[in-house]
Amino acid sequence: MINLLDLTYDELEAFVVEDLKQPRFRVDQLFQWLWQKGVRDFSDMTNMGKALREKMAGIATITWPGIAKVQESRDGTVKLLLRLHDGKLIETVLIPFKDRFSQCLSTQVGCAMGCKFCNTGLLGFERNLTMGEILGQVLVGRKFLLDKGVGGPDGPSPIRNLVYMGMGEPLLNLDNLLRSLETLPRENGLSISWRRSMVSTVGFPEQLRILGKTELALPAISLHAPTQELRAQIMPKAARVPLDELMQCLAEFPLRPRERITFEYLLLGGVNDSLNHADQLAKLVDKNRVKVNLIAYNATEGMPFSAPDRDQVEAFEKRLWHHGVTAFIRRSMGADIKAACGQLKADEQ
Ligand code: SAH
Ligand code: SF4
Repeated sequence: MINLLDLTYDELEAFVVEDLKQPRFRVDQLFQWLWQKGVRDFSDMTNMGKALREKMAGIATITWPGIAKVQESRDGTVKLLLRLHDGKLIETVLIPFKDRFSQCLSTQVGCAMGCKFCNTGLLGFERNLTMGEILGQVLVGRKFLLDKGVGGPDGPSPIRNLVYMGMGEPLLNLDNLLRSLETLPRENGLSISWRRSMVSTVGFPEQLRILGKTELALPAISLHAPTQELRAQIMPKAARVPLDELMQCLAEFPLRPRERITFEYLLLGGVNDSLNHADQLAKLVDKNRVKVNLIAYNATEGMPFSAPDRDQVEAFEKRLWHHGVTAFIRRSMGADIKAACGQLKADEQ
C-alpha cells in the first residue's frame, strides 16, 4: 500500500486520474485533506463519495509518524520523539519564534557522517526518510501546537518556517529533500512560504549546486573549523570535500538581494574557539555574502568535548565583527531537555 503523504502534487494527480479514474478536480480536494486539513482517515473526506473513499482505503494509507515521547523546555521549546511505521525513532523540535514556531526536521534515521561531536553521528546511518516522513513531522508538529491552542484553524499556521537541522544529512537524501521543499509552499497544503526554509549541511558541492538551481531553500553550512586540517579532525568524513572546493562552490551559490549563506560554527572548548581561529574564519569567508551563527557546544556525557567558556564565546563573536563579519551567538534553545541533535534519541537507547 502506498502512503499518500509520499506523493508530490504531480504524483497525486497521477494517482487520482490513473489509479482512481477520477476527474482532475479531485486532486486539489485530496491534497487539501492530506496537507491543509490534516485528515488521517479516508472516511473523514466528506466531499468524496463513500465508494471512492473505500476504494482509496483499499489501496492507500495516510500514515503519520506516532509520538513516542514529548519533552517541553522551560523556554517553550518542544521536542518530539517520533516513531516511524517500522519502529525507528527520529526527533523533531519546535522552537518558539515570536508568536509562532520554527520547526527543526530530521531527514534520515541516524547519519553516516560520523562527526566526532555529534550524537546522531555516533548512532551511524540506518535509512533515509521518505517525503511523507519528512513532512509528516510537520503534520504532527502542527497538530501538537494547534491542540495546545497555538494558532487557530483559520489563522496562519502555527509553524512559520522550517529548518532541516535534525537528525541526518539532508543533502544525502536529496531527492526526498527536494520533493518536500517543493510540496511545502503549495496552496491548499501546508502553505509554508517559499524560501523560508533552511537546509543545514556539512556541504557537498554537487548537491549544493542542484539546491541552488531549485531556488527552494538556503543552505546553512556546518563549518565548525576554519582550516582543512582542524575540520578533518572533528568531521573526518565531511572533510573529504576539501575546504577550498566547498568555499568555491558557495561563492557561486545564487543569492537574491539581502540573502546570505549561513555558516554554523559550533564552539568546542579549547578546540576551535581561540581568537586565532576567529581570525582564520574571518579570512576564509566572504563577509558580504555570509553570516555566522556561533553555537556553544552542549556538553554530553561520554563525548570527548567540553563547552566553551562564556567569555570566550563573546570574545570570538567580537573578533568576527572586528573583521567586518556578521556573527551572532545563537541561543542554545531547550538546553534543559537536550534539544541538540540526536540527544533525546541517544538517551532512549
Ligand atoms: N547533518 C546536518 C544537519 C543536522 S546536524 C549538519 O551537520 O549540518 C544540525 C546541527 O547541529 C549541525 O550544525 C551540527 O553540527 C549541530 N550539532 C551536532 N551535535 C551538537 C551538539 N552536541 N551541540 C550543539 N550542536 C550540535
Ligand atoms: Fe551527521 Fe550533521 Fe551529526 Fe555530522 S553533525 S554526524 S553530518 S547529523
